[in-house]
This record gives sequence, C-alpha cells and structure tokens, in this order.
Amino acid sequence: MRRPIVAANWKLNGNLSMVSSLLEPIDSFAKNFNDVDVVISPPFPYLAACGHAIKSDNVFLSAQSVAREMQGAFTGEVSAEMLSEMGCVYIIVGHSERRGYYGESDQIVADKAVRSLEAGLTPILCVGESLEQREQEQMKEVIIKQLAAVMVKVGIDNMAKMVIAYEPIWAIGTGKTATPEQAQEVHSIIRSEIAKQSPEIADGLRILYGGSVKASNAVELFSQLDIDGGLIGGASLDAKQFNAIVKAASALVITQ
Ligand code: PEP
Repeated sequence: MRRPIVAANWKLNGNLSMVSSLLEPIDSFAKNFNDVDVVISPPFPYLAACGHAIKSDNVFLSAQSVAREMQGAFTGEVSAEMLSEMGCVYIIVGHSERRGYYGESDQIVADKAVRSLEAGLTPILCVGESLEQREQEQMKEVIIKQLAAVMVKVGIDNMAKMVIAYEPIWAIGTGKTATPEQAQEVHSIIRSEIAKQSPEIADGLRILYGGSVKASNAVELFSQLDIDGGLIGGASLDAKQFNAIVKAASALVITQ
C-alpha cells in the first residue's frame, strides 16, 4: 500500500499570521494521522516561519516553484539548494498556473525537476489537460507528453524519488471536480506509462489528484485504486476543511 500524501498549495494568498491561524492547527491535527504525509507549500517569504512551526514528524515543508538554474545572475529566482537549506522536502514543479501564466514549457519543468532532485528534494510534478484538450480527445496525448519530457531528462530510476499530481486545468479553482472515474482513468494512464519502463517504480509511485478537492469529495476520490492523496489549493486555506481531507486519506489507509 502506498502511503498517502495530502499537500496544501497556498499559492499567492495570506500573510504571516497564517502560520499561527492555519499551519499550527493543521500541524497539531496531523500528528494524530501519522499514516498520512502532510505537505505545506506556503509562499517563499513564509517558508522559514512555517518550518519553525512544524512540530509533527509527518508534516513536511514544500516550495511552490524553484529556479531552473542552481546559481548565478538570475534576479528574483530561488534555487533548489536554498530551498533545501530552508527545510523544504518537496517542491511543486509544472503547476498549470506556472505553465500557463509564466510560460513554463515542458523543458523548463523538466529542468526544475532535475535541479530539485540534485538538491535532494522531492519534486511534485503536476500534469494536466485543458478543457479544450479534453473535449478534443487529446487528454492522453497531453499527459503522456508532459510526463515523457520529465522522464527522459531525469531517467526512470529518479521517477521513484518523485510524486506526480494529476491536475486537470478545468478543475483547478473552478469548483468543478473530475469525477472519481475520470480521475482514476488518468491516474491509471500515468501509472501504466511508467510501468512500461519499470513496473516496480510504477507500483510504488504516489499519484495525487488536484482540482477542487474538498472535505465532501475527498473520500470518493481517494478510494480510487490509483489515487494516493491530493494536492489541495482553495480548501487548504481553511484548517477545518484541510484537516477533514487529511482524515479522509487516513481513513482510506485503515479500510484497505
Ligand atoms: C491547485 O492549484 O493545485 C489546486 C488543486 O487548486 P484547487 O484545489 O483550488 O482547485
């Protein structure tokens, strides 16, 4: 059984007071559910404060993005090594908002995954199709292309050190969740694609679903065979909602 992950992506929200109002209640709740890994991705300036506030062994710090380069004249960028020094364990790479608003191509995403791995961090690689691509029946092709660009660069063995998040763009922040069957179909495509190179790595790989996950739909989504937790945006800004999602992931471990 794969250990579930429930990851929070705070995006560009909040302020420093979220460390006490949001992270602390999540951290103290999480220690009662130590069969789940909880990941918190605050904005860069709050990483240090969040790192100090984390007390539970199953709660980990993550960054929302990382530089494509390790060091040099790249004003405004933050390297994987710097993030590692700040206590990050995970890094989100390839989020559709980065791909869409900041022009991050598959190549840039692959470089960011490589830099993260070099610094000993676990990339959470996001892949997902737009509504238009889904309607034009290009979903499978898009997912495989996004995945392949990274696999080719990091190599199959490194896939074991990564987490994948399937995030259909049409479900992010829209309130429109993929049905459990729609999500399972894509998760299974991702796992099968990796299994072509290594069935063992594919079997151990944690694949998260992201896109309007809430306390009310988490159990149904997480009970799908190939869904190993969630990447949570909006609902991660509410400790009660987020904790209920953590509980849903843990309940799944208990019933399996
Ligand atoms: C996300 O941005 O990764 C996400 C899943 O957002 P939301 O939960 O708000 O759809």
